[in-house]
Amino acid sequence: MPEGLVRSFEVRLVVPGCHPGAEHYDAFLALHDDISEALPYLNAELEQPTDYRHGDRILLWQCDDRAYVFRPHEIAISPVHDPEDAHDVARAIIERINDIWRRRDSLCPNLAGKRPLPQVLDLYQLLPRLNCKKCGLPTCMAFAAALRTDLTKAHLCPHLSQEDLDRMVPR
Ligand code: SF4
Repeated sequence: MPEGLVRSFEVRLVVPGCHPGAEHYDAFLALHDDISEALPYLNAELEQPTDYRHGDRILLWQCDDRAYVFRPHEIAISPVHDPEDAHDVARAIIERINDIWRRRDSLCPNLAGKRPLPQVLDLYQLLPRLNCKKCGLPTCMAFAAALRTDLTKAHLCPHLSQEDLDRMVPR
């Protein structure tokens, strides 16, 4: 392992609890080094989408149909196909972290996460309030409540413009 922020790690494979018969695994990389200080730089440099919670020191990333969760001493990656795949992906992400960390003096760290989801009444105020049922729900208030709990998607209301959608959906 070349010199860098992360100098050594161990990989553990786990069968996903929600898919006991699955032919893929979750990989957990136990890091001997703390990557907390690198998280804002990863948030700035990794391709979107990322979501960063600075207070919780957790960074989420989606890339190549895999989900990554970075914590100070752990990286979770899902899915991986087998141990060889897990080690390849692990080496790649550790090299990426070390590369970004080496370049940090020339980078601008990003502490921002997604905008928080608005409350139900705020969402309701943004809806046309026609109660036309075209979204599949009986009222606009029901639609607002379903949006808040992620049980529906804003684009299912056909009356919303792109500008409306941008105000409702966190980036
Ligand atoms: S389609 Fe839009 S306007 Fe009609 S009930 Fe659903 S949220 Fe309200």
